[in-house]
Amino acid sequence: MDQSSIDALAAAPVAPRGLFIGGQWVTASNGAVLPVTSPIDGQPLTTIADASAADVDAAVASARRAFHRGLWSRAAPAERKKVMHRIADAIEREALSLAVLGVRDNGTEISMAIKAEPGSAAGTFRYYAEALDKIPGEIAPTAESVLGLVHREPVGVVGAIVPWNFPLMIGAWKIAPALAAGNSVVLKPSEVASLSLLRLAEICTECGLPEGVLNVVTGLGAVSGEALGLHPDVDVLVFTGSGGVGRRLLEYSARSNLKRVYLELGGKSPNVVFADAPDLKQAAKVSAAGIFRNSGQVCVAGSRLLVQRAVAEEFTELLAAEARAMKVGNPLRLDTQAGAISSEMQLARVAGMVAQAADEGASLVTGGARILPETGGSYFAPTIFAGVAPEMTIAREEVFGPVLGVLPFDTEEDAIRIANGTDYGLAAAVWTGNLGRAHRMVRAIDAGVVHVNTYGGADNTVPLGGHRQSGNGHDKSLHAMDKYVNLKTAWIQL
Ligand code: NAD
Repeated sequence: MDQSSIDALAAAPVAPRGLFIGGQWVTASNGAVLPVTSPIDGQPLTTIADASAADVDAAVASARRAFHRGLWSRAAPAERKKVMHRIADAIEREALSLAVLGVRDNGTEISMAIKAEPGSAAGTFRYYAEALDKIPGEIAPTAESVLGLVHREPVGVVGAIVPWNFPLMIGAWKIAPALAAGNSVVLKPSEVASLSLLRLAEICTECGLPEGVLNVVTGLGAVSGEALGLHPDVDVLVFTGSGGVGRRLLEYSARSNLKRVYLELGGKSPNVVFADAPDLKQAAKVSAAGIFRNSGQVCVAGSRLLVQRAVAEEFTELLAAEARAMKVGNPLRLDTQAGAISSEMQLARVAGMVAQAADEGASLVTGGARILPETGGSYFAPTIFAGVAPEMTIAREEVFGPVLGVLPFDTEEDAIRIANGTDYGLAAAVWTGNLGRAHRMVRAIDAGVVHVNTYGGADNTVPLGGHRQSGNGHDKSLHAMDKYVNLKTAWIQL
């Protein structure tokens, strides 16, 4: 990956994109489009189709037809495996162009995007390609007079609604296991970041995925997202995004066909640093990356720093030095460490929560303001607040921006109480040189993942899912396959 290839790709115009239904590009039935603005410079990038409920209906019908036709749903697992490996190969071949397209759309720095987006999507397709013929059904331990079989069957049509941060990675976390199990999929990307997922759908078809098995409807959440959530012929709905929308999806299910709904939601993840951490300098470096990379637009971002009082001042200073040294700016530059906030709307939300933190009495250590206004893009300085109390808004609500609150604590018990003191339970980290304490903290913290002496980076082999109001499903690992199958018992009298 070199700067000149990135620049060449970034200079190419992006053609207006339609909806991808039944293996074809189509316009929205009412002709509506949405402008796509790049957060890099605030300039128009292209347009995407704004799907109506009728378009969603067409996409679901296409998915159902493909499911019944059986070219994918009843294909031998070895055939499905071949196609999914081909898709992984194609993503790898096109990695840089996919990454640049995504960065122009949502502003993630290219150094992160290249690994987290095409890199991770290819790995996910490969993981589920390998997994799909290694999860057998069961023969139940019955009496000799009967044979009890447990079949694992695809559910049918999966609706997947995904957010604007890491669309390819999160999209692949849903699409790949759903396809591996033999389902058809209707994907609804975020209106803020649809472009790389539209290309992924085309890649899948080019690699031999039968038409109609993967359909993409772009547009506004309140229109096409709602239509997908309410659709009576969607069997399972998988979602990554905010808690507010997650609640709506549960309502849609209740109001329609009681489809199963799996939610991956937000977090307010505690990063707990004990005075006995092996290397405070290294901890500060990794902790800064854990909140400030992608300008904090990471669901598992360590947005609450719980630090033991004896080292609180020293550690906050180390972190502030990391924050000030961070290179924030044009995400297409290879040396940029934190890119743009994905939209002006999100930047306004971040600025609003920073102002509120100051109003509620937190003290600003560094950052706190929009930067680089001359670029026309949406950039915000890495921001640290000290003196944060657990009841302040900045300690309880997700910002989804480059904002860290520092909360000092005294004992292990205090740390556990504060760490578990929000409605969320997505991720956490513990920094300590004491093995016993590390294991105690892993057990005591109520979160889907607890890192020890690191932050982030968990791969496909382990599940990611929230506890409490951070969600109820799991992406990644073999556990994710369970969302996309129905169990069926055959009870046979011999
Ligand atoms: P969002 O909830 O605003 O939007 C997510 C998706 O839902 C988009 O595609 C949007 O169009 C759609 N949507 C919006 N309104 C809808 C409605 N009424 N009905 C149906 N669909 C609707 O989230 P976002 O701002 O795109 O993403 C940020 C959020 O996602 C944060 O809370 C973040 O923590 C969370 N997130 C969680 C994970 C995880 O794995 N747990 C990963 C990444 C992001």
